[in-house]
Amino acid sequence: MGLLYLFGLVTLVSCSRGTDAPPTIVVPPHVETRTTPPAPPAADSAPLPHIDSKRAFQYTREVTAFGSRYMGSENHKKLERYILDHLQGDQVEDDAFTADTVEGKFPVRNIIAKFPGTRDGIIVILGHYDTVYPLRNSGFVGANDGGSSTAILLEYANQLRGKKRDGYNVWLVWTDGEEAVKTWSDTDSLYGTRHLAEKWEKDGTLKKIKALMVMDMIGDADLNIDRDTNSTPWLLDLIYAAAERLGYQSHFYAREGAIEDDHLPFVKRGVPSADVIDLDYGYNNVFHHTAQDTMDKLSPKSLEIVGNTILETIHLLDQR
Ligand SMILES: [Zn+2]
Repeated sequence: MGLLYLFGLVTLVSCSRGTDAPPTIVVPPHVETRTTPPAPPAADSAPLPHIDSKRAFQYTREVTAFGSRYMGSENHKKLERYILDHLQGDQVEDDAFTADTVEGKFPVRNIIAKFPGTRDGIIVILGHYDTVYPLRNSGFVGANDGGSSTAILLEYANQLRGKKRDGYNVWLVWTDGEEAVKTWSDTDSLYGTRHLAEKWEKDGTLKKIKALMVMDMIGDADLNIDRDTNSTPWLLDLIYAAAERLGYQSHFYAREGAIEDDHLPFVKRGVPSADVIDLDYGYNNVFHHTAQDTMDKLSPKSLEIVGNTILETIHLLDQR
């Protein structure tokens, strides 16, 4: 989900000169102060990443087909098993606890898959797999909101397993209880990540995290990833640089605003974090948290754009 507080549309302001005078173009004199030519930028010859977007889309379809997957539901349990079935042979851990909410107690289970690297430090990719509790009887299936984030992480696991990374450790976290059970607030939301951030603060994990990125609502066929002002600016810039290298930059950061999502508990503890989210789902975000959040609104191309961009961002982080 991700709650939107303030969204400023980027407006283009055209300059009017206000006179009939022809424009004057000032050409600065050529100044050459260097005695040696500048070194060319370091060429990055690494192959571009390429996820299997058809497979990621199929995962989204299968996850969505479970129906509503709110905390404590039978479909939620089925989805837990589905995720674990796809992580066989991987190093998997649980962060399971009981959340005390205004709607009662719920079991919450963050699922963590760890892929080792050669460098000290961890890159964490998160995405929530629960769907909205208050919409449990509304026909809501969360293809984009819950489905796309679950699926892209499963595809990342396919890309990461089988070889020790030449770079940082990468941890994938399917987060639970991201959604509010009644009305979004600091205490009714982000149940899973608030617990995980506290746990990782106590056990020293947070200090090892080089970057943390949240995937949320990344399947919209009309993909516009928002520039979230709660995120860490240098990490957003790095994601943009990765998108540029792949030629995807037109899908990033046309809008800017403050978004509340699973990254916040980590942002508050000083972890470099970015929310990767498209909160313009249908005109004026009309499909968000409605029964219209269905597969026909999504595109494998969007999963590919985000999927490849974040893998490239991991590559850029490895180089730093
Ligand atoms: Zn949501």
